[in-house]
Formats: sequence, C-alpha cells, structure tokens
Amino acid sequence: MPAKKNNYRFEEILDKHQLKKTDARLRVLSMLASKNFATSQPDLEEVMVDVDRGTLYRILNAFEEKGIIHKVFDLNGTANYALCNSDCEENHHHDEHLHFNCVQCNNVYCLNDLDLPDLNLPEGFKSLNFSLSVTGICPKCGKKSK
Ligand SMILES: [Zn+2]
Ligand SMILES: [Zn+2]
Ligand SMILES: [Zn+2]
Repeated sequence: MPAKKNNYRFEEILDKHQLKKTDARLRVLSMLASKNFATSQPDLEEVMVDVDRGTLYRILNAFEEKGIIHKVFDLNGTANYALCNSDCEENHHHDEHLHFNCVQCNNVYCLNDLDLPDLNLPEGFKSLNFSLSVTGICPKCGKKSK
C-alpha cells in the first residue's frame, strides 16, 4: 500500500531532523507530498481543522528551517510550501528549480526536472541561491479552457 509506505518515509524525515513524530507533523508532510503544487497555510488549515493555527505555523517554520520544505509565493503574495529535494540541509536550501505560477488556478508548481541555464554573473557577484519563476497557464487549466 503506497500510503503506508509514504508514512514510513515521513517518519524517517522527522527522525533525521530530530523532530518528534507527531500526528500533525506527519499529516503536514503527507499533505504536501500528495500534491504536485505548493500548499499554503490556509489550505492546510482547511483540511487540518483539529490543529490550531499556531501549531501549524510552528510546524511549517520548523520544517523550513530544517530544510524539509521551502517557501514559494503565489501571484497573490501568499506563502506556499513544497517539499524540498533531499539535498537541502538545515539553514541551507538548494531549491534551485523553476517555479511555475499559474494565473488561473493560482497554484505554484515546482518544476524540478528542468535543466536550468548557468548563470554568468558579472565579476564580483557571488550567488548563494537563485530562483526562477515563470507565469502562465498550467496543464490542468489549459485543458479546461479548450
Ligand atoms: Zn529546500
Ligand atoms: Zn492552473
Ligand atoms: Zn519549489
């Protein structure tokens, strides 16, 4: 059963980062993993009605700090969260992938599998992290409008 297998993986993630395996944390991870686009705190609140906002906020903050999830903003400026690649570390994210903002559904997709161009920065500029975002219509919305 894939759902169960995933849960094991999530427990491992929490273990690895020395976070207690609470039900709320595991549910946040599985929610974020279940979608192919980023999720905002209000989206999580809607589903996790039994968990209070402060707790949810702290979970998201801790996950971000530990390099488990990264924050990305949608076109309304709302923070959304997506799971990181496994090479992110505590206080050091390597989420150098393209983010696609859909103007219709307002979802933000992490496009991990694209080759990104090398940055040729002018002399003296040293990059630590870069982000690339594209605005447009996602496949789901593209289908609808046909
Ligand atoms: Zn990251
Ligand atoms: Zn869309
Ligand atoms: Zn991303």
